[in-house]
Amino acid sequence: MKANAARKPEAIFGLVEAELINSMAWLINLRWLAGVSVLGATWFTTTLLRLPLDALWLYGIGVAILAYNAIFRVILTRLLQRDQRDIRHFDFLTKAQIGCDWMAMTALIHFSGGLLSPAILYFFFHVVIAAILLSARVTFLYAAIATILIGTIAVLEYAGALPHYNIYGAAGALLHRQPLFVIGMLFFFASTMFVATYLAVTLNDRLRKRQAQVVELSQSLQRAYYRLQTVYEAAEAVTSTLELEEVLDRLVRRAADALNVRACSIRLLDETGARLNVAASYGLSEAYARKGDLLLDQNPLVRQVLAGNTIITGDVATAEGLQYPQHALAEGIRSMLSAPLIGKQKALGLIRAYSAEVNHFTPEDAEFLTAIAREGSIAIENAMAYRALGKLDEMKSKFVLTVTHELRSPVSVVRSLLRTLLAGYAGSLNEQQREMLNRVQYRADFLQTLIDDLLDLAAGKSELAQREERVVVRLDEAIERVVNRFEIPAQEKQIGLETRLEREVKISATEQGIDRILNNLVSNAIKYTPQGGRVLVALSVERNWAHLRVTDTGIGIPEESLPHLFEEFYRAPNAKAQEKEGTGLGLAITKDLVTRFGGHISVQSQVGQGTTFTVTLPIIVELPI
Ligand code: ADP
Repeated sequence: MKANAARKPEAIFGLVEAELINSMAWLINLRWLAGVSVLGATWFTTTLLRLPLDALWLYGIGVAILAYNAIFRVILTRLLQRDQRDIRHFDFLTKAQIGCDWMAMTALIHFSGGLLSPAILYFFFHVVIAAILLSARVTFLYAAIATILIGTIAVLEYAGALPHYNIYGAAGALLHRQPLFVIGMLFFFASTMFVATYLAVTLNDRLRKRQAQVVELSQSLQRAYYRLQTVYEAAEAVTSTLELEEVLDRLVRRAADALNVRACSIRLLDETGARLNVAASYGLSEAYARKGDLLLDQNPLVRQVLAGNTIITGDVATAEGLQYPQHALAEGIRSMLSAPLIGKQKALGLIRAYSAEVNHFTPEDAEFLTAIAREGSIAIENAMAYRALGKLDEMKSKFVLTVTHELRSPVSVVRSLLRTLLAGYAGSLNEQQREMLNRVQYRADFLQTLIDDLLDLAAGKSELAQREERVVVRLDEAIERVVNRFEIPAQEKQIGLETRLEREVKISATEQGIDRILNNLVSNAIKYTPQGGRVLVALSVERNWAHLRVTDTGIGIPEESLPHLFEEFYRAPNAKAQEKEGTGLGLAITKDLVTRFGGHISVQSQVGQGTTFTVTLPIIVELPI
């Protein structure tokens, strides 16, 4: 089993270095072929052609090539296995390989005929290989060494210090001793060597530059892609919530992350429009974030930003127009990038990224933060509008609460007086008077319902409701209680009222709230179901949710009314036609309560067929001790 598989060079190095290592692997593969070729050619020339060569030396050279190639292969694999990150190791390995090759090449040339060896031409392959793998300077150095080596062999063979192997019979027997031939060959060898080196180096240099360009391009493309993704994610993150604090918090985090800086903040203009308060910050000390407001009249930089410009402050220490340069330096901030947050109609504030390095931010960063700020401004404005709406809603609820509260006691008094009158305690009534008082009582009762509903609705939205104490409520028992309450009205309308309940379903809620939910749904089901119909209240548990279904065979709800059903005061036209009285508040209150208890409500209905309301609430799961 392989303990540690060699990793791909791309996984360790940059693209350029990885390319060098890959080329080296390619060179090793090529060398197997060279070694085998030397052995093959030796056998062919010495055994088949019976040329007067020293077969032993030539076989030796072939074996040597294969042997050192095997060693280099092992070293390369080891380096990659060990995750060797120092490129100098690879560079050295390359030089060693090429050095060995050139020695082998020189020996091969000597044993195959010196200056007359046809193998001499193979040197030019090596020039190309060296130019690919090594720097121009080293390649020229190798070319010079090759020339010196060949020159040395030629001179030594000329002088008789080295034996000359002649493969051309009588025709070539004395050529290596002809000065003109030796000088001519050496001159052409050397000049061809240098011209070939020059050409190979120049071409390769161009290729390397291109490659570097491609690498840079691909890196900047990758950066751009990442940033684009961040803008998209930021847009998605900030628009997925309407809570202002959350929007701002996500924005500062995202921006700091994508710009690779340690801190980011958002400041928003206050109502006076003259100062900017910190609304969110990330990565800044509490002391710095709270150091004070930015005042427009004292801060030209902020004025420029609010006018719609993104500004890079390259060095906080020397920049002009900053309000708190000393605080920034003490915080370790050396450069800043500020982009405007502009709403549909006016400037909202600014987003600012901070770096601990001088001149950290590039124009590209500026463009990026501007884009984030643009997306962010929309989200901030939406969240602000939502917050304002919430405030308005709260004000409305308070108003309704006060008014209805004031109405409650007079209406109670009116109803109790009416009851007294109708009971005849204030004297007997004739038929007409009784009839009129009955109608007044009916109206007064409706008024009482309306007041109760309005109070419930307003109470649900008040702060008190948010803080109310929740208890464990047995949903199955609560249903039974409410259904019992409606048995008589159901019988009067000859409606079959059934329950199908799972037992011991516990939820966290308020008794009163659950009662109200059930009361509204069951009373509606009976109210909107004609005589002889059926109403079923079912309770089941699926996973950790309780499903309460109230199904009737009543008048149903028109499709176009469904989206408005839970709005305050909404009543469907068919319901209005059937039941004159109705507040249209019951379902709004129900939905409010269900949401408060962590659940949701949905409705399915078909006109003339019936309706099912489904309430889903989280149950309390008792863990075994
Ligand atoms: P109200 O019953 O006082 O009109 P609600 O808020 O309880 O007010 O209900 C709002 C509207 O929803 C009703 O006016 C009616 O149009 C529709 N609705 C509610 N429950 C049913 C039901 N079981 N069957 C048909 N319509 C219903």
